[in-house]
Amino acid sequence: EPASNLPTTPQLRDRARAALDRIGVSVPEGDDLHARSPITGERLFGLRATTAEQAREAIGQAAEAFRTWRVTPPPARGDLVRTLGELLRAHKSDLADLITVEAGKIRSEALGEVQEMIDICEFAVGLSRQLYGRTIASERPGHRLAETWHPLGVVGVISAFNFPAAVWSWNTAVALVCGDAVVWKPSELTPLVSLAAGHLLDRAIEQTRAPRELHRLLLAGRDVGEQLVDDPRVALISATGSTRMGREVGPRVAARFGRVLLELGGNNATVVAPSADLDLALQGIVFAAAGTAGQRCTTLRRLIVHRDIADQLVERLAGVYGRLPIGDPFADGTLVGPLISDAAADAMAAALERAQADGGKIVAGGRRLDGLGGAYVEPAIVRMPRQTAIVREETFAPILYVLTYDTFEEAVALHNDVPQGLSSSIFTRDQQEAERFLAADGSDCGIANVNIGTSGAEIGGAFGGEKETGGGRESGSDAWRAYMRRATNTVNYSSALALAQNVSFLS
Ligand code: NAD
Repeated sequence: EPASNLPTTPQLRDRARAALDRIGVSVPEGDDLHARSPITGERLFGLRATTAEQAREAIGQAAEAFRTWRVTPPPARGDLVRTLGELLRAHKSDLADLITVEAGKIRSEALGEVQEMIDICEFAVGLSRQLYGRTIASERPGHRLAETWHPLGVVGVISAFNFPAAVWSWNTAVALVCGDAVVWKPSELTPLVSLAAGHLLDRAIEQTRAPRELHRLLLAGRDVGEQLVDDPRVALISATGSTRMGREVGPRVAARFGRVLLELGGNNATVVAPSADLDLALQGIVFAAAGTAGQRCTTLRRLIVHRDIADQLVERLAGVYGRLPIGDPFADGTLVGPLISDAAADAMAAALERAQADGGKIVAGGRRLDGLGGAYVEPAIVRMPRQTAIVREETFAPILYVLTYDTFEEAVALHNDVPQGLSSSIFTRDQQEAERFLAADGSDCGIANVNIGTSGAEIGGAFGGEKETGGGRESGSDAWRAYMRRATNTVNYSSALALAQNVSFLS
């Protein structure tokens, strides 16, 4: 049932303004960009953007701050990130308010996004005492072979609208303890969240007396993003967004021999085997497919179900879909908020048309709710006769395509036969099958799960995917290495000069 009593734009404006006030940041009012809310589809504030000249200057300032920061001991760098984490805790609800206002996430997911930011800060603080290199066995007597990890430089972070704050924090918390400076070009769709998060870091920088210009925010559109990408003073570009964006950014950074970390689109699938616990599968599937209104990079978009259980599972799913509360993301009980824009709803409608033209049958949802201002859609389930071209594309909206299989080999082949390679999962109680899904010839994704959905990763693991998802890894595990440079050191503590590979010269 759609909640027709949505908050009004003035109410949303007040709510945003109150959160920004508590965080202590003022909005640079102007006419270059605007903040809007997908809840009503209306404009909240006009904003002044960062100019090209200001962006150039900001990158220079970050490069200068890096010179001091790179020689600050890592545990002291951890202090800054600890302070950021404390400020995020104190303003968890404020930042979540802004995320709901600007990205349309339901309250619990917006709070979850801020929790993820707190978690990565804690992880990074621990990491600040664990940036380990190795000591390696040397082939020469009286020699020590080792590797040292050094700070890399300025990290340019480009982020997407759908995780407007968490993606920045994954990069920034880790980059800062690694000794890097950060220049952030957030999504132009979420300027208020960016202002707020950037300001909390500025406050932490001030409190811990870290270099003032260690973090710079570029509040601007794609043009300034391109400028960041092309600037040789930026050592690493960590870009999160569509595969289209990555296709443009990757070669430009490579052309100047910069480093890139790409986190691009996904087209994630879950295999449901005949032995699966269907109650568990049902919950996992609905959260992964309809949660965040289908706007996560890890959203479940393809369900590959064994033929024997397909009708039963689809019927149960359609039942749950029919009861999903859609509407005001601030309201208790809402599970599906608005899509980010009318364009996103149009893309969903166009994808559903193409799926039907390919012989697909919509078995649940798929309509846009009229008269609500924002782009509210019913999450859709479509049974497909085959994995056609539209199924192999990422449509950033809640469409779940259902395919059926007979043999496990067929399921894995269908699973891997898409250009993207982010997240995947299998529901099964057959241990062999679960292990085969995780094996070298199983799922080809960066994330492969068992008896859980495709979305909702923890920060402790490395996050990212293969193929057109871009190959980058960020967040936990040893993803920090992307933010540092490695030096191999050979130290001779003998009095003889031994050459490697027994080469003789002058001896
Ligand atoms: P988008 O590609 O439209 O924009 C992302 C960012 O890139 C924005 O800040 C934008 O200004 C910037 N940008 C776009 N073109 C650029 C260019 N040529 N040079 C420099 N910067 C450029 O993506 P979006 O619509 O905001 O986000 C949705 C997409 O992001 C989906 O495809 C989703 O799967 C993906 N995503 C991936 C991950 C991941 O970790 N793999 C996480 C979140 C979102």
